[in-house]
Amino acid sequence: HMPTAELQALDAAHHMHPFTNGDELNAKGARVITRAKGVTLTDSDGNEILDAMAGLWCVNLGYGRDELAEAAARQMKELPYYNTFFQTTHVPVIALSERLAQLAPGDLNHVFYAGSGSEANDTNIRLVRTYWAQKGKPDKNIIISRKNAYHGSSVGSASLGGMQGMHAQGGLPIPDIHHINQPNWWAEGGDMTPEEFGLARAQELEEAILELGEDRVAAFIGEPVQGAGGVIVPPETYWPEIQRICDKYGILLIADEVICGFGRTGQWFGSQTYGIRPHIMTIAKGLSSGYAPIGGSIVCDEVAEVMNACEFAHGYTYSGHPVACAVALENLRILEEEGIVDRAGSETAPYLKQKWEGLVDHPLVGEAKIAGLMGSIALTPDKATRAQFAADAGTAGLICREECFANNLVMRHVGDRMVISPPLVITKPEIDTLIDRATTALDAAHAR
Ligand code: PLP
Repeated sequence: HMPTAELQALDAAHHMHPFTNGDELNAKGARVITRAKGVTLTDSDGNEILDAMAGLWCVNLGYGRDELAEAAARQMKELPYYNTFFQTTHVPVIALSERLAQLAPGDLNHVFYAGSGSEANDTNIRLVRTYWAQKGKPDKNIIISRKNAYHGSSVGSASLGGMQGMHAQGGLPIPDIHHINQPNWWAEGGDMTPEEFGLARAQELEEAILELGEDRVAAFIGEPVQGAGGVIVPPETYWPEIQRICDKYGILLIADEVICGFGRTGQWFGSQTYGIRPHIMTIAKGLSSGYAPIGGSIVCDEVAEVMNACEFAHGYTYSGHPVACAVALENLRILEEEGIVDRAGSETAPYLKQKWEGLVDHPLVGEAKIAGLMGSIALTPDKATRAQFAADAGTAGLICREECFANNLVMRHVGDRMVISPPLVITKPEIDTLIDRATTALDAAHAR
């Protein structure tokens, strides 16, 4: 390799980073990651960093599994590319679709592929609107989502998302997307119990349906646990009430499982953990553990039947890419055969929960929440009143993230919440290291 400073200078000269202030980054230089194994990243200076984010919530299997590289190489030699448009198909896409139909709950038996979660959610927007048009209800086109949700960065998926910062740039949102409040009890619950608050926030869906008109609302979309919004674990009352309302008004329920899917919540899908019965699930990330870009929508029998009666004028060059499908299949095989998802739920998650929730004793931490292997802590200047750093929101989180990074731990901050989502293969000693480093970073941030 070139020396780190040279790599950083070239990066600054020619590479525009997503979700990054380029000037700030270039002033200090990006950290150059050169290789990874298990849960550990190595940078160009030889530092070993514990990746408590599994990249971007995606490397569920952990880094460095040769079997996935071999599956990709085998497929590239045999059939590197072919499309699935216009009445053609291929073996990897057939095999992966069958496997996903087996794994997905209920009658989610049909997969429409994309290259990413964003593309899959764009598919969902057009798919649910086309579904209702096919059923003679073209005005049923409003999709209800939530503030602070993240559903991707394409124009459609970012419109579905409820990130204010994203809506402020580039002409978002597209029409006929409506946002209700998120179930973030710690920040917004006031005097209500979490159960009362969960119910109240879910009932906003019913209020919105009545206000917008039952005959206008096509679907509701939600992440079982809001991830990029700060790992907002919903109160127990939330999802049953959302499900009741969707059933009552016959609107389609889309579970965005891009983060929650493939073991993250301790089961194969977050919908199973929260008792959600979606008509459509968005998948990506853990589907291939990030080893190849692939996403998709898994659709129930009835929706597929309606859609099959028309030509859905939609698709991507890389829908069902054979190499990505082969990698995803191999990833799912290992996750299952090595019992990684089962172990994550039965052993790793309870151990991590006990350690993580202990962070609430730190003076800077107001709440510590965890669902399976995705967790968050809320930083606060006063835990008794659940106060937030209102004036300089996000600064405490940023400082804490920097302290983590300086301490060879990748944790992410969302405003003043710190989040984790480690590879499912993380071991108990690695969890101990994670908690030790996080505590050291919290101490350093507190001292600043
Ligand atoms: N949906 C959720 C819940 C996500 O967290 C993300 C990405 O973080 C996406 C969709 C978008 O996926 P991608 O980045 O693969 O486009």
